Amino acid sequence: LIVLGIETSCDDTAAAIVRGNGEILSQVVSSQADLLAQYGGVAPKMAEEAHLQVIDKVVQEALDKAKLTETNLSAVAVTIGPGLGLCLRVGVRKAREIAGSCNLPIIGVHHMEAHALVARLTERELQFPFVALLISGGHNLLILARDLGQYVQLGTTIDDAVGEAYDKTAKWLGLDLRRSGGPAIEELAREGDAKSVKFSTPMKQHKDCNFSYAGLKTQVRLAIESKNIDLWSAILAINFYPPNFPMLCSNTTIPLSSASSEDRRIRADIAASFQRVAVLHLEERCERAIEWALKIEPSVKHLVVSGGVASNQYVRSRLDQVVKKNSLQLVCPPPCLCTDNGVMVAWTGIENFCMGRFDPPPPADEPEDIVYELRPRWPLGEEYAEGRSEAR
Ligand code: ATP
Ligand code: FE
Repeated sequence: LIVLGIETSCDDTAAAIVRGNGEILSQVVSSQADLLAQYGGVAPKMAEEAHLQVIDKVVQEALDKAKLTETNLSAVAVTIGPGLGLCLRVGVRKAREIAGSCNLPIIGVHHMEAHALVARLTERELQFPFVALLISGGHNLLILARDLGQYVQLGTTIDDAVGEAYDKTAKWLGLDLRRSGGPAIEELAREGDAKSVKFSTPMKQHKDCNFSYAGLKTQVRLAIESKNIDLWSAILAINFYPPNFPMLCSNTTIPLSSASSEDRRIRADIAASFQRVAVLHLEERCERAIEWALKIEPSVKHLVVSGGVASNQYVRSRLDQVVKKNSLQLVCPPPCLCTDNGVMVAWTGIENFCMGRFDPPPPADEPEDIVYELRPRWPLGEEYAEGRSEAR
């Protein structure tokens, strides 16, 4: 069994080829980070354009690296949601084009399920049921995975995801956004004193497993303002970023690379203090989620942590403590499989394919303007109803 996985739900165009036994034959990711840095966020139309420009090349490179052609494939898996409709469409069209021309079955994949299930590729001992904390740019989920396709949602964010908070903090601290904000904060935080700025932990009074990061974002913003880190005036910004008009619309902090050493220390303290509290919130919620999950499925032995933010070493080490305290084991895929990638999509395709869950090959002459079945909003499993009463 050889499956091609295609991922275009947000700002990365990714493809990978994986064997049924979990062997990764190739993996290619083309990132739009430069574009994002220039415009300060994901604009759907622009992201779609960027996917369209590289999708053929990315898929071809995945085939070349695996020394295969389309005719060697057994099936094609593609993310159909959640994500930006325009972007999802690019991947789905490509997947159907290949599946149609080679008469291959096709598997529509849930992006967040893929973030969770890739842990079963990297850790072969990992059996259902397990708890998963999925932390990325757009999602903050705690789920109990009871079986393939059977998920109980223990908690979600009521506003922003933790990755979004990392990205905004990085932007406000003037970090280099040509890479994503998370790694930049992680690095700067190593220089800082995590106890120096007092941020309060979100949702302390809510005894549930939900998350909130909007308030922490505001606290960070206020801390930056109160520390008087120089905000560049529009005129200076024009000189510094001539082509980037959108930058002028938001306050632009002096890039870290031009900051004085005192200024750098202040920023490092804010980064470290932000990270400590952002992760403390994850720790508290995970502890409760494990408690809840064990009531539903006493045989739970693992906490999976995946999604872009799970590549953070501090996050991993703190959650490892939580897991040990509860006599469970932590499973974190390697960083390149935590951020968006095609391997997780191919693997989720394989898991579903093996259970007979796939669609028949699309017609070879499918018109280009057909309306595909996309699921831009797609919850992962049922909400844990008892959670509400437990929270009281
Ligand atoms: P979603 O999965 O919710 O659709 P996404 O697909 O854009 O969002 P991922 O690629 O899974 O997100 O994760 C990207 C997020 O992970 C970004 O917010 C990024 O800042 C964050 N991230 C990546 N590496 C790190 C790190 N080392 N520390 C903290 N955050 C990180
Ligand atoms: Fe993702």
